[in-house]
Amino acid sequence: MTLPVISEGEFVRRSFLASILLSCALAVSQPSSYAQVKREKSKPPVAAQGKQDKTKPAATPAPQEKRETAKTAATPERFGNVEAITAAQLKEWLYVVASDEMEGRDTPSRGLDMTAKFIADHLSQWGVKPGGDDGTYFQKFALTSRRVEPELTIASVNGQSFKLGEGFIAEPIQGQASGRIVYVGHGYMIRAKGIDAYQGVDVKGKIILAVEGFPRGVSFQDIHSKKEGEDYDTPETYARAQGARGVIYIPSQSTLSFWQNRHQFSLNPSRLRLEGPRQSGAKIPVIYASEKMVKAILDGEKLDYEAIRKQASQGALGEAFDLGAGKQASFNVNAKVDSPMTQNVVGVIEGVDPLLKKEYVAVGAHYDHVGMSQNAEGDKIFNGADDDGSGTVGTLAIAQALSKSPTRPKRSVIFVWHAGEEKGLWGSEFFTDNPTVPMEQIVTQLNIDMIGRSKKEGDNNPANKDLTGPNELYVIGSKMMSTDLGNLSEDVNNSYLKLAFNYKYDDPSDTERFFYRSDHYNYAKKGVPIIFYFSGVHEDYHGLADTADKIDYQKMEKVTRTVFAMMWRLANAPARPKVDKPLTPQMAN
Ligand SMILES: [Zn+2]
Repeated sequence: MTLPVISEGEFVRRSFLASILLSCALAVSQPSSYAQVKREKSKPPVAAQGKQDKTKPAATPAPQEKRETAKTAATPERFGNVEAITAAQLKEWLYVVASDEMEGRDTPSRGLDMTAKFIADHLSQWGVKPGGDDGTYFQKFALTSRRVEPELTIASVNGQSFKLGEGFIAEPIQGQASGRIVYVGHGYMIRAKGIDAYQGVDVKGKIILAVEGFPRGVSFQDIHSKKEGEDYDTPETYARAQGARGVIYIPSQSTLSFWQNRHQFSLNPSRLRLEGPRQSGAKIPVIYASEKMVKAILDGEKLDYEAIRKQASQGALGEAFDLGAGKQASFNVNAKVDSPMTQNVVGVIEGVDPLLKKEYVAVGAHYDHVGMSQNAEGDKIFNGADDDGSGTVGTLAIAQALSKSPTRPKRSVIFVWHAGEEKGLWGSEFFTDNPTVPMEQIVTQLNIDMIGRSKKEGDNNPANKDLTGPNELYVIGSKMMSTDLGNLSEDVNNSYLKLAFNYKYDDPSDTERFFYRSDHYNYAKKGVPIIFYFSGVHEDYHGLADTADKIDYQKMEKVTRTVFAMMWRLANAPARPKVDKPLTPQMAN
């Protein structure tokens, strides 16, 4: 679970319908087993009857078709090999995944790679099919950090040289530009607002000179959810699309005030991030000119530095124009890129139905955590037992139980352990942008993130006030996109372990924003209905004491079995859950 981030979307989140109960209309539209299960609700849960022998897989269930017709009120619903999932096994694995040897599973890190190998070795042992790159369990992806190298980063105007840091500062984008200059004001093109800074000029083969900052009456909010390059262009995207050679900014007041900080910042490796195709694609070099350099550029032109500053302060920049034919600028930015690799871990268990096996139930967790503390004394390792060691081993237990199941469901099941969740949902963003099975064939994603803790009787610690009890679980998103999915989820729980499902965080006015804070969100954005299973934040959330000895393994067993049961039902359902309430554009941004 990532820390909360305030997003612009927060204030425009749509209201969605509150819990929708199983309606009569839906009950008739569902397969007959639904109605049967409903009749069985008064029966004791399967677990109470079926716990005699945990060392062996549960008794072979009847084949699916037979079960559905032969089931009577006397035979409770079976969920395949669900009882192969045990507290003891979950505990054994979690003591490995959350051990100090894994060094807090930062992304990227040696500990994360070791954890990936731990997961993949098990999948291989059980004969789970690799679902990553080139027949492996790993879906590799690169992270990126950039910085400016002072050596060979130079600029000149008509032969007059300027020094990096004094005369100009550079964006860490490798490139070289030289040629004539065209002034374009703010340099924005915003189609919906009829803003076009490029009327009357052609920028091809030239260097764009733009005043840094938004046009008057335009803010970040206006373009945040719009398509760059289609709905709007910045000076940089316009320059790239129209064949300009580079961009020189006349700096804003804020850049001038923090000139040295911005310069130093550009020389340090930037924080690692996941770059999409748009960010990592061909870019053009960008510099910010000092007052002295701007004056040299505008020397003898129809607008001078003072006039432009005055216009900028009034939000009234003049029209675009070509600078004199004799005016030449030239600059070179030498930038270095670090691209460490990390990976998701992916496995597939194929279904048995010749048609439905092309559809997938996705089960996932994030196997990364936040690494090691820079300044703690003594213990420095964030073990992340609950966050999300619990989901990591829960997903592993589901894969094991399914792989050893005497019968297989109709649909296939894809297991994805995501990296970089704590850094900004990187692994799930990469997977959903580069899926190893077609996204539209994923019928639901079940995300398990933090299912290991429970609130003890008499615990009055305010930090634990929202932690769920031993038989309770937050279920998030199940009713948000698909009425079918919400009903099926309730139905599975009512016919099996009867956990107390808590829908508190499905409240649209909830300020914790949990729906946006774990990997399922990236699946939801692509239109895949999701369920997020979560036991709540607690005193050790993102702390050094989120350790394996604090886990309620009995609860983890119940939750993991409940997710397995849901996966089993989804994988066998005659029809995939219908998305009748797609996310609004605001929720998907
Ligand atoms: Zn977290």
